[in-house]
Amino acid sequence: MKRVVLRPLKRSQIRYAHPWIFRSQIDKVEEDLADGEIAHVFSAKNNLIGVGYFNSRSEITVRLLTHQDEPIDARFFEKRIAQALEFRKRHVKDANAYRVVFSESDGLPGLIVDNYNGTCVIQILTFGMERQTDLVVQSLKKIFSPTAIYKRNDAAIRSQEGLALEKGFIGPAGKTLVEIEENHLRYHVDIENGHKTGFYLDQRENRRIFSGLARGKKILDCFTYTGAFALTAAKTTGGKVTAIDSSEEMGKQFRENAKLNRLEKQCHFKAANVFDELKKFDQAGEKFDVVVLDPPSFTRGRKGIESATSGYKEINLRAMKILNPGGLLVTATCSYHMTTDLFYGMLLEAAHDARKTLRLLHPGLQALDHPVELTIPESFYLKCFFLEVNPL
Ligand code: SAH
Repeated sequence: MKRVVLRPLKRSQIRYAHPWIFRSQIDKVEEDLADGEIAHVFSAKNNLIGVGYFNSRSEITVRLLTHQDEPIDARFFEKRIAQALEFRKRHVKDANAYRVVFSESDGLPGLIVDNYNGTCVIQILTFGMERQTDLVVQSLKKIFSPTAIYKRNDAAIRSQEGLALEKGFIGPAGKTLVEIEENHLRYHVDIENGHKTGFYLDQRENRRIFSGLARGKKILDCFTYTGAFALTAAKTTGGKVTAIDSSEEMGKQFRENAKLNRLEKQCHFKAANVFDELKKFDQAGEKFDVVVLDPPSFTRGRKGIESATSGYKEINLRAMKILNPGGLLVTATCSYHMTTDLFYGMLLEAAHDARKTLRLLHPGLQALDHPVELTIPESFYLKCFFLEVNPL
């Protein structure tokens, strides 16, 4: 196997058990090592660091697949995927849709595999993992026997890796509209055109917590997508739910999902911008018992953090103002860059301006099928706080 040799690095420059090797850390690369090829990585003192794939075009020039000296072959992928699946079997409850492989967290950088009730959706995000597609598919078939495998290789970051954007079934075609069950609710999922691979699986456990905490007659679900928080609230409280999303298309899917669960009488969808609607409710003095804020990521980079913070603050401040005393605010950020500390600080500022107190009922994070590896801080991205809001 070809070699990549690192510069002499100080202890503080080496991140323990982290799979990323940056360009600036590399001293020598064996001459004809091609992009996407598997290589051995050695320290300056000639100790083996691990085995990974190389891409000269990426700042993260090597992503390690293992810290051991082992071949990257069919057995390797079978072992990794089997371990990942076993973890989900232990930890995923009340759902037939879950993430099977979460990239670096499962020792398979650049690979996402989601299971939607037997249909597998895979997403490959890096050049090196793209070269392993056949082994990944073979291993999935062997370990998992999915009814169909769909490739959602249309994530924009693929372009940065020099990869084409494409989607479609690998092998025999199945359905692109699948039905799943989560926390005793049913959903249609569009694996072809839905966000991510079709559903926000990472909020499953927060929705379960939500079903235990939501109460009241008037509920507002902002950024509803296909309605998962809204339907959870409708079912557990029996109250009336208003769900808002900027996309008309989401309204169609929301209504179908409401019908599928016989909750359509309690659920009302409005296509609108959440920023505008919250302002209108505030100005009109309309109040709610529960407000859910589950926005898209307001920033994908460190640079955007300031404007993202002001966006988060605006919606949180308005939400606090339109809650009845003792009301529940469920507020999330799915941005890695919006750290828990920054999020906490933003909420305090919003509470200060709204003259409210916040009691933290539960600090939620991403569901366990999206494991947070402490050695890989980048794997921790989702925070979802459940707060009881009271006047000062
Ligand atoms: N809560 C959802 C996931 C939300 S994803 C769930 O649990 O499944 C974020 C959603 O916000 C997307 O559907 C997107 O269409 C919507 N969105 C983005 N910006 C918006 C805005 N300014 N106003 C309303 N909806 C918005």
